[in-house]
Amino acid sequence: MAEQTDAPGAQQFIPPQADTLDQLRNAAAGCRGCELYRDASQTVFGRGDEGARVVFVGEQPGDMEDQKGLPFVGPAGRLLRKAVDDAGIDPAHIYLTNAVKHFRFELRGKRRIHQTPDRVHITACRPWLVAEFSRLHPELVVVLGATAAKALLGPAFRVTRQRGELLPWPASAQRPEDFVRVPVDSAGTVADAPAAQLLATIHPSAVLRADDQDKAYEGLVADLTVAARALTR
Ligand code: SF4
Repeated sequence: MAEQTDAPGAQQFIPPQADTLDQLRNAAAGCRGCELYRDASQTVFGRGDEGARVVFVGEQPGDMEDQKGLPFVGPAGRLLRKAVDDAGIDPAHIYLTNAVKHFRFELRGKRRIHQTPDRVHITACRPWLVAEFSRLHPELVVVLGATAAKALLGPAFRVTRQRGELLPWPASAQRPEDFVRVPVDSAGTVADAPAAQLLATIHPSAVLRADDQDKAYEGLVADLTVAARALTR
């Protein structure tokens, strides 16, 4: 890994006139907001239904996501899709993204070992998350694991304490004002974001690492079932 230097943040790489997620995705490919772009293969932006009812926010792309340029396509992503299905959430109406959009790792021999992003990376990358949310109007935000929770809800939020609990979005976000107003047209008109809810749960990779994977998986599905019920109201 390269030595960490300063992280100017992603904001300067976001074109103010970008109306669509595709335009944001294209711009994110050239982001140099922190040093993580140097060693990773490519930016891994969010993907899914632009009119998604549910937006999932994970930590960062893994090794396979980094190679393919798509989020949640590795083992944890497969597990998440199964859990989404088992919980009764329609996978056609979800959007998947990460708090940090480049893969952070350290080399051990030829292997690239995942490293949790630092606060500086979460802060640097947050403008992309804010920009994605400004183009998405989900009914529900599902936060997967501690890194995503820190990015969206602040350092005091504890997933272990509040998992599976429906919370008001964006009131529960850190700096909720970032998420309150959303653009409605390319002339720059904004409106209040529609009321949505938030639910935090564990990251699917935590299920894969658990001693008792069946139990951890059941817990993930139970949390997502709360989310599914919130959607049917
Ligand atoms: S991790 Fe985020 S802020 Fe850092 S270079 Fe990648 S896209 Fe930009």
